[in-house]
Amino acid sequence: MDEGALERALLSRVNNLVIELCETRRTINLMEVCGTHTMAISGFGIRRAVDPRLRLLSGPGCPVCVTAQAEIDAAIGIAGEQGVAVVTFGDMMRVPGTRTSLEHEKAIGADVRVVYSPLDAMRLAEAEPDRQFVFLGVGFETTAPTVAATVIAAQESKVSNFYVLSMFKTIPRALEAIASSDRVNVDGFILPGHVSTIIGTRPYEFLRDKYHLPSCVVGFEALDVLQGIHMLLEQVKSGPRVEIQYTRSVKPEGNRTAIQVMETVFEPGDAEWRGLGTIRGSGLGFRQGFREFDARKRFRIAELRTPNAKRQTRCRCGDVMLGVIVPPECKLFAKTCSPESPVGPCMVSTEGACAAYYKYER
Ligand code: SF4
Repeated sequence: MDEGALERALLSRVNNLVIELCETRRTINLMEVCGTHTMAISGFGIRRAVDPRLRLLSGPGCPVCVTAQAEIDAAIGIAGEQGVAVVTFGDMMRVPGTRTSLEHEKAIGADVRVVYSPLDAMRLAEAEPDRQFVFLGVGFETTAPTVAATVIAAQESKVSNFYVLSMFKTIPRALEAIASSDRVNVDGFILPGHVSTIIGTRPYEFLRDKYHLPSCVVGFEALDVLQGIHMLLEQVKSGPRVEIQYTRSVKPEGNRTAIQVMETVFEPGDAEWRGLGTIRGSGLGFRQGFREFDARKRFRIAELRTPNAKRQTRCRCGDVMLGVIVPPECKLFAKTCSPESPVGPCMVSTEGACAAYYKYER
């Protein structure tokens, strides 16, 4: 059977299961946690192809989207200091803080540089020892091990003008916040492929044991997503498990080396998520022995936040990432908010739910 025929057969099985399950319920709500899944579901036309009673909701798995305004403000504050360069991946440049963005600050003279890896940032620091370089540590368990390895390399090479502003967030605690929320109605989670490659599936077992929710780690091709959805619907029918569809990349125990590197440098701390607020234990702070690289300590972040800052209230990215609304339900969608002129991070990021709907589902 060719791939197209396989997809059609799987789609038919998915829709038949939805019909069967919806004899006793109105909808089945599955949340895809990863921004790459959001793009795949929109881009492959899966949302339009499945029975509309199967609702595929976006979750908090786009790293740029969950970065809090206060964190952007802190990065902008650091970029305004004399003799300091802020170094970041390109997708952070246009994310709005309370009043401005890194892109705007760079345009008016701040030293903000874009790199492709944290190692590039460390090399910039080595090349210019008279400047201080602050790398923005954004993302989940996918990127944190690479940044941790860079910090270890900086320590070994005695690079003393390199810092990391850790805005890392960890996925299992965010899922727990969603699973326990009264506002959110999720029947199962499409778990992220990349994050799960690092952490495995054991950190998700509470979803089955405590919340009795189905979950499945899923790959990123159309067939992967359809098969993962089918596995989740089978769980809805017969009982929750923690499954892996993406077996070519994910093992239950994860990548022990990457986990060890991450845990050598970082320890759990609280983190503020855009839209979800502060989630205890969902961030990564520096461990004793590596705090010389902690930009929060070096630049006294709390003092850098914009005083009396008025928060952006019209953007509903928080509700989008909780699956409370879908992007077109935001009043600004495709009107005042578009990829050319984004109001919120979900429209800035190439993995953002609003950007996905704007590109594929208008
Ligand atoms: S459409 Fe724009 S303003 Fe509305 S939630 Fe999405 S990013 Fe925010």
